[in-house]
Amino acid sequence: MTYHFKCTLCGDELDPRTTRYVCPKHGDDGILDTILDYAKIAKKTSPRKISDSRDFSIWRYADLLPIDDAHASRFAPPLQVGWTPLYRAQKIGAQLGLSNLYIKDDGRNPTASFKDRASAFVVAKARELGVEIITTASTGNAGAALAGLAAAAQMPTVIFVPETAPPAKIAQLLIFGSRVMLVKGNYDQAFDLCLAASKEFGWYCRNTAYNPFTVEGKKTASIEICEQLSPSPVGTGEGRGGGWRAPDRIFVSVGDGNIISGLWKGLRDLAALGWIDPLRVPRLMGIQAEGSAACYNAWKAGTDKITPVSATTLADSISADIPRDGVRAVRAVRETGGAYLTVTDDEILAAIRDLARAEAVFAEPAGAAAYAGLVKAVKQGLVKSDETMVCLITGSGLKDIKSAMRVAGQGTRIEPSLDALRRVLKS
Ligand SMILES: *Cc1c(COP(=O)(O)O)cnc(C)c1O
Repeated sequence: MTYHFKCTLCGDELDPRTTRYVCPKHGDDGILDTILDYAKIAKKTSPRKISDSRDFSIWRYADLLPIDDAHASRFAPPLQVGWTPLYRAQKIGAQLGLSNLYIKDDGRNPTASFKDRASAFVVAKARELGVEIITTASTGNAGAALAGLAAAAQMPTVIFVPETAPPAKIAQLLIFGSRVMLVKGNYDQAFDLCLAASKEFGWYCRNTAYNPFTVEGKKTASIEICEQLSPSPVGTGEGRGGGWRAPDRIFVSVGDGNIISGLWKGLRDLAALGWIDPLRVPRLMGIQAEGSAACYNAWKAGTDKITPVSATTLADSISADIPRDGVRAVRAVRETGGAYLTVTDDEILAAIRDLARAEAVFAEPAGAAAYAGLVKAVKQGLVKSDETMVCLITGSGLKDIKSAMRVAGQGTRIEPSLDALRRVLKS
């Protein structure tokens, strides 16, 4: 696989053998796109070939990732990441009047969030580079994903999280054996400390967007969606026209903006290869918490310039003062003709409950935010009833029980007798 980097700010092209993270001209803001050799990929593989693969993980798309084949099979950590279920959401679809709604449950990844896609790929690249220690800052999920995937590869990690991260996420870091730094500050402060530590001690840094490979791992989700929506069943080799089918819209929650940028990258790769119709790339719908809406603000103002906010939301995974991938995240929505929407914490909590009751998918607040945004988009008349839409649920509800319990209702305490049960059922 040959590839190179391109600065998202100045367009300078950079060699991965000499540049590890960001554009030297722009420092930590100069995050990099990965430019692939599409002609080479097209020669090597095809949708049909991939759909015949028996590898049901992100690695079925290894030929579209910036890593050599031999290295992908040698360095991929041995946990199953990706190929998460895409459900037809009949009940919610009926409630909202939508005939082609799907829910993709990325809480079904090994550490229960979408972040496993990025961490799996970064761990593979770290092994390829021969580094010893990997570090990241995280609101919790990116760290848990790195901790888990690094444990699978037997690599040590140092992880920086705000001390206020949900206990389940901190438990994941610890149980996988990471060295855990509980930062007395917010995610943005943890991010800066991790960056400084990486520079000081030479640890390989997974920090979201700063490491160019997080977006490459995350792009597997939109590729997967297009394959899962394709009319031919997997394994039959009957790719109609050889192509896959893109939805009309994808709803996703946005904090740092790296997931939405990853989805966009996957779609751009597929469009460049002609595997989806380049004229019908899905509109990306970015959902932010009202109290953490820097990307929404920039999109609304018609600029790429991100103005930091003072983030407050119970959806910890999308709480970001400075979205680290903000520029790309705003472009992703603008250039696909999508929209940004904000949702309140109350709407997010209601979404956790409604999604669980209608579709039996239990999401953490940031995951349910995408669904809350879909509900709002329908109310505002932004979508047509027959559009094919995917709502991406990015994290499991078991990550944050405290939030779920606020809308779950209460159990009934009873004596262990049928009489007591009868009394309760009657009242
Ligand atoms: C990280 C995360 C997000 C947001 O992703 P960004 O790249 O920060 O925009 C959404 N939901 C969950 C569950 C996450 O862990």
